[in-house]
Amino acid sequence: MTTTQSVQLSEITPHPSVEYWSVCKVEALYETPFLELIYRAAQVHREHFNPQAIQLSTLMSIKTGGCPEDCGYCPQSARYQTGVQNQQLLDVDEVIAKAKIAKSRGAGRFCMGAAWRGPKPKDMEKVTQIIKAVKDLGLETCGTFGLLQDGMAEELKEAGLDYYNHNLDTAPENYHEVISTRRFDDRLSTLGKVRKAGLKVCCGGIVGMNETRKERAGLIASLANLDPQPESVPINQLVKVEGTPLAEAEDLDWTEFVRTIAVARITMPKSYVRLSAGRQGMTEEMQAMCFMAGANSIFYGDKLLVTGNPEEDGDQLLMAKLDLEPETEENRKVLEIE
Ligand code: SF4
Repeated sequence: MTTTQSVQLSEITPHPSVEYWSVCKVEALYETPFLELIYRAAQVHREHFNPQAIQLSTLMSIKTGGCPEDCGYCPQSARYQTGVQNQQLLDVDEVIAKAKIAKSRGAGRFCMGAAWRGPKPKDMEKVTQIIKAVKDLGLETCGTFGLLQDGMAEELKEAGLDYYNHNLDTAPENYHEVISTRRFDDRLSTLGKVRKAGLKVCCGGIVGMNETRKERAGLIASLANLDPQPESVPINQLVKVEGTPLAEAEDLDWTEFVRTIAVARITMPKSYVRLSAGRQGMTEEMQAMCFMAGANSIFYGDKLLVTGNPEEDGDQLLMAKLDLEPETEENRKVLEIE
C-alpha cells in the first residue's frame, strides 16, 4: 500500500454517527488489505466493547413453515419443497420451557421467530402473551415476525419486547433477485414503525447469495445509514438448503465473509455485530478471525429456526480456547447508541 493510499484510508474511517456511508466508501473499506482491515476493525471494537465478552442469544421458531413469501434463501417458504414440517404458533408454555433452558445455559436474550409475511391482528394476543412470559423470566426479548401493520410495534413494546429483528436481507439493487413478494422499502417502513414505538432494532442481512462485492457494500451502507444505527447487526452467511432457489449459490470465500464482518464493525462501531446463520459451516479458525474482526454476538443453541447451528458444547469449548466469556452486566462495556 502506498502512502497516498494510507492517507485515503484514514480519510474513509469517519465517525459513522456523523457521516453518511456511500456504497463507494464502503467498497473502499472492503478493498483495504485484509490484515490491515482486521486490525482496524479490532481497534474500533476495543473502543466501544470489551473484546472478551460475547453476547449470547438463543433463537426459537415459535411458528414454523408455510410462509407465503418467496425469499430465495428460506426453507420455510410454502413455495419450496424443503421438507420443513409446518407448525402453528406454539403455546406459551412450550416457549417458556425453552426459554428457561436457554437462560440456564447463559443466554441473555431470547429471540423468537415466526414464519409469516407479518402477523395478523388475531395473532397478536398470543404473541404478546408469549413475550410477557419470556420477559418475566428476566431475559431480553427479541421478535422477528415480518412486516408490521400500524400499531403492532406499540403492542409488542407494551408486552415487553426489547428488540425487533427485521433484516434488510441484501442490497436494495439486488433485492428483486432474492425476493419478489415484497420490496426493500417495505422493510424500511416496518423498521420505521419499530423505531417509532421505541423498540431497539436488530437488522442485518445475508451474504453469499450470488451478490457482487459492490452489492455487499450496498447492504452494509444501507445498514450503516439507518439513523440511528441498529443496536444489533446479524451478518448471516447463506445456508444453502436443497429445494430453495439459492441451493446452488456460489460459495463465498471465507476472507470475503470476514471482510464483511470487519466492514460492519468499522461502519457501525457501537452495534453488536452478530455472527449468525452459517456458523456451522465455519472452522474454529474462521470464527476466531470473525471475533478478531469485531463480531461480538452469536446465536447459541443447536438450531436456528430450522437450520443447524454448532452444538452448545462446541461453542463453550471454542469460547474457552479463545478466552471469551458470555457478556454480562458486569463485563459489558458499551456506549449506548445516540
Ligand atoms: S425469510 Fe421469513 S418472510 Fe421470507 S419466506 Fe422465510 S419465513 Fe417467510
